[in-house]
Amino acid sequence: MKKGRWIIILLTFIIALTGCTKKETSGIALERYSATYLSLFDTVTSIVGYAESEEEFNTITKQIHDEMLTYHRLYDIYNTYDGIVNLKNVNDNAGIAPVEVDQRIIDLILFSKEIYKESNHKVNIALGSVLALWHEAREDGLYDPLNAYLPDMDELIAGSKHCDLDKVIVDDDNNTVFFEDPNIRLDVGAIAKGYATQKAIENIDISLLISVGGNVASTKSKPDGSPWVVGLQDTQKSEGNYKQKVILDKGAVVTSGDYQRYYEVDGVQYHHIIDPDTLMPAQYWKAVSVIVTDSGVADGLSTALFLMNQEDGQRLLDKYNGVALWTDKDGNEYQSNGFDSVIKN
Ligand code: ADP
Ligand code: MG
Repeated sequence: MKKGRWIIILLTFIIALTGCTKKETSGIALERYSATYLSLFDTVTSIVGYAESEEEFNTITKQIHDEMLTYHRLYDIYNTYDGIVNLKNVNDNAGIAPVEVDQRIIDLILFSKEIYKESNHKVNIALGSVLALWHEAREDGLYDPLNAYLPDMDELIAGSKHCDLDKVIVDDDNNTVFFEDPNIRLDVGAIAKGYATQKAIENIDISLLISVGGNVASTKSKPDGSPWVVGLQDTQKSEGNYKQKVILDKGAVVTSGDYQRYYEVDGVQYHHIIDPDTLMPAQYWKAVSVIVTDSGVADGLSTALFLMNQEDGQRLLDKYNGVALWTDKDGNEYQSNGFDSVIKN
C-alpha cells in the first residue's frame, strides 16, 4: 500500500473581492454573506451568496436549511422522527404492506430508478442489504481498528439476492411504496444529498453557492456576471494549491472518491462505494468529479462514473450533458469531452 496517502477533497472558494464586498445590480447594492450548518446530512453545509441585506440572506438561507432538514429526515435510513414516515419506516415495513409516504420519497425513488437504468444497474438504491454489511464492518473497524474485519463474502452474496430495484413498487397515485421482496433495503446515500440540494435551491432567485459536504451547487452566476469558481484540491499540498479550478454559473460539481469514507483492515483501505458486480469497493478510480446543471444528477453520476470505465462514463455524461474529471489511483487525470470549457484559466 502506498504510503503518504494522496487525498483530494473538494473545496469551494470564492475569488477574493478586493476592498469592498458590495456589488451594484440595477442600482441596488448587494453584499456577500455566508452561513454554515452542521445539522444536514451528517456533514458540513456552507452557503455564500449575495443579498440586499443580512436579513434577506438569513431569511433565504433559513428556508434552504429548513427544507434540507426535512429532506434529511425523510431520507434517513438509520433514525425515525415523530410525525413523519421516512425511509427507515419504509425499510422496516414496505416488505409487509404498501407504506404511504411523502411525495418527496416517491420522487427520489423514481429519480433513482432512472439513474439505476442509465448506469446499467451500477448505482442501485436497493443495494441496502449489501451496503448494511459494509456499513457495520466499517463502523466497527473505525471504533476498534485493531479488530477491523471485512464483511463475510457469503453474507454479502446472500444480501445481493435482495437488491432488485424493479421489485420496489411505487404507486404514484396513492403515494405508496411496496417491496415485492421483503428483504430489500433502500440506501439512498449515493443520491440523496445532491437531490435534496437541488430541490432546496431550485426556486431561489439570489445568486448563491452551496456546499453540502463538498457537493457544490449554484443558483446562477455572481451579480457582476462572473461565474463562481470551485477548486478541486489536492490536500497533500498546502491550502490554495488546487489541482483544477472549475467555473460554475447555474450548476453543480460533485466528487465521489475513495478517500471520503473508508476504514483499514490489515493495512489495506476499504472505501464506501461498492461495486454491485464484485460486492467489494470499486477499483476503477481514485476520484471522479462531475459537473452538470442538476445537483441530483451530478450526485448520481459521480457515483456512477466511479463504478465504471471511462468509456461507459463518457456515454453517460453525453446523455446528461455533463463533463467530468477522472483521477486514477496513480494520480493521473483524464478529462471528458468538453471539460476544458469549465476549466478556470
Ligand atoms: P458521498 O455520499 O460520500 O458523497 P457518493 O455520492 O458516491 O459519496 O455515495 C456513496 C454512498 O452511496 C455510500 O455511502 C453508500 O451509502 C451508497 N452506495 C455505495 N455503493 C453504492 C452503489 N453501488 N449504488 C448505490 N449506492 C451506493
Ligand atoms: Mg453520489
